[in-house]
Formats: sequence, C-alpha cells, structure tokens
Amino acid sequence: MKSQHVADILLLRGPVSLSHLFAGTFLHEGDKAIDATCGNGYDTLALAKLTGSSGHVYGFDIQEQAIRETSRRLAEAGLAGRVTLLQIGHEKMEQLVRSPVKAVLFNLGYLPGSDHMIMTRPDTTRIAMNHSLKLLEPGGIVLITVYPGHDGGTDEQHAVDDWAAGLDPRKYHSWRMGQMNVISDAPYCVLVQKAA
Ligand code: SAH
Repeated sequence: MKSQHVADILLLRGPVSLSHLFAGTFLHEGDKAIDATCGNGYDTLALAKLTGSSGHVYGFDIQEQAIRETSRRLAEAGLAGRVTLLQIGHEKMEQLVRSPVKAVLFNLGYLPGSDHMIMTRPDTTRIAMNHSLKLLEPGGIVLITVYPGHDGGTDEQHAVDDWAAGLDPRKYHSWRMGQMNVISDAPYCVLVQKAA
C-alpha cells in the first residue's frame, strides 16, 4: 500500500501510513535500513528516500515479481544505487546485512494481485524478527504491519504478538497500534524499539 499525502500532510489511514510516520521520525541521511518484504516496492522506495545518498537500504523478497517491480520503481525514481535487492528469504538477513541498522520494516501477508499461496509464514517471520533485533542499533526500530484477516493470518498474528509481548522490557519497548474505526480483523502496526 502506498502512503497517501495531501499537501505534504501524511494521512493516517491504515497501519502502513503509521509505519511511514515512524520511519520518517527515526531514519536520517546516512542510516542503514532493511525492507524485509519488498512486495510492490513502495516501502523500499520510502526507505531509500529517507536514508539519502549516503545511506543504504537492503530489500528482501522471495518472489521474482516483487524484486522486479521494486527494482523498476527504484530505477524510475533514480534511486536504484541506494538499494541492494536480494531475492532471498528475510530469515537469512543476519548473514547478509552487517550491523548496525536503524530500522527494519515488515509488511506481512501476500502480495496483492499475485499468488496468494506465497505469503510470509510464522516460523520464518519469527526468525527474521529475531535477526532484526540483533542487527538494530540502540534506539533503532522494527516496524511490522500484521494482517490477521487472511488464511494463515491469525497464526502469524499470534506469532508476532507473542514475540513482541515477550521481549524483555529492559531491552526493548514493544507497541501495538491499530486504527479503531475499522473492522476487528483489520491490519495493525507493531513497533519494537531497542533500548538505548
Ligand atoms: N499484505 C500486504 C503486502 C505484503 S507483501 C498488502 O496487502 O499491502 C509480502 C511480501 O512478502 C510478498 O511479496 C512475498 O513474496 C514476501 N515474502 C513472503 N515470504 C517471505 C520471506 N520469507 N522473506 C522475504 N519475503 C517474503
């Protein structure tokens, strides 16, 4: 989903816009960031803009279509040089990205308009979330958009919620944020910040 702006005001419609709000607050020129699920590449592009010409973004997706679409979107914006795209599962991120990283974004579920059987799964998501924490610098954030409403979404929702709620509060600050005037299984945002 693309975040929506009117006259430079970010509209807070749905959880993806919230994750962009937080990414915009925490990421600065020169930072390193990870898009753990490139999908259509909107988040990857947003991260590449925020981290600037001296920063770098690593984008993961297992689908060729997602990597191709993200690559096209970055090239169109002239920002391909700021991003390393990897057609590899995000559960390998710790081996492929060097610490420290300021922000890691996940947009879970399946890619709209593509094969709905190819989706993020609780086991690999859990591994990748743990890798993210290891890679984060103090004060850095993990932002996860969770989709409870599809097949398999409830299992993944529980995996993310249990993981975030179980983190040691002296080491991490975990938040769950969801829009209230929407259906009960609407997507929501989980944020985990590494304590300083
Ligand atoms: N549900 C969102 C879009 C999510 S896209 C929306 O409606 O806007 C999720 C992406 O995660 C897909 O492109 C899919 O290919 C990718 N993906 C699935 N498993 C993955 C894994 N293990 N590592 C990296 N990407 C993965």
